[in-house]
Amino acid sequence: MKFANYLMTGAFLLLTSMLLAQSPKIIQKPITWDKDRIQLSLDYLKNRHGLTQSAPVIHPKMVVVHWTANNSVRATFNTFNPTRLPGRPELTKASALNVSSQFVIDRDGTIYQLLPDSIFARHTIGLNYCAIGIENIGSRQHPLTDAQLKANEELIRYLSKKYPIEFVLGHHEYQRFRKTSWWKETDPNYITGKDDPGDKFMNELRKNLPDLKLNPLP
Ligand SMILES: [Zn+2]
Repeated sequence: MKFANYLMTGAFLLLTSMLLAQSPKIIQKPITWDKDRIQLSLDYLKNRHGLTQSAPVIHPKMVVVHWTANNSVRATFNTFNPTRLPGRPELTKASALNVSSQFVIDRDGTIYQLLPDSIFARHTIGLNYCAIGIENIGSRQHPLTDAQLKANEELIRYLSKKYPIEFVLGHHEYQRFRKTSWWKETDPNYITGKDDPGDKFMNELRKNLPDLKLNPLP
């Protein structure tokens, strides 16, 4: 009996360490989440996505990968931290809620979490209500690194264990959902052109995630 207990404890410890090994290291760096941001998020869900909710939560079904077009996590944090958009009239007209994403990955692959992964963030028109956003420090001039590719893989694999993720897309691919039932945006003319993070990075990323059995993009 005692020996059986030892075996079970051993199996349990092994399982626990395997699960822990599969979770990437994530550094918490929360942006402002106050009453105003909660209300603006609820307003966005209602006015833009046509969804009346009592809490600004999402049920993640997809992950949208971005680059920040700036050169540091600090700059990204400072951009996302205010609750309201400073300027950007093409966006302010649709909602005063500031843009943000749930995660940002530095060029060395360090993962930071800015908001809980089931909390609403404004990063992709038409899809925010079901999409987790991952920002990557980089730009057209500074293409994303191999360390970022690896960190995106680990983070998305981890998120897929928590949520039924069906699609992994680049921000530049988001308009492919426009003619599908996934698209929820009340103004058909509210669209912005995006080129982040590009085909090369996204094709490599999806190629490295065959175990997730993702759906092909529409
Ligand atoms: Zn983007």
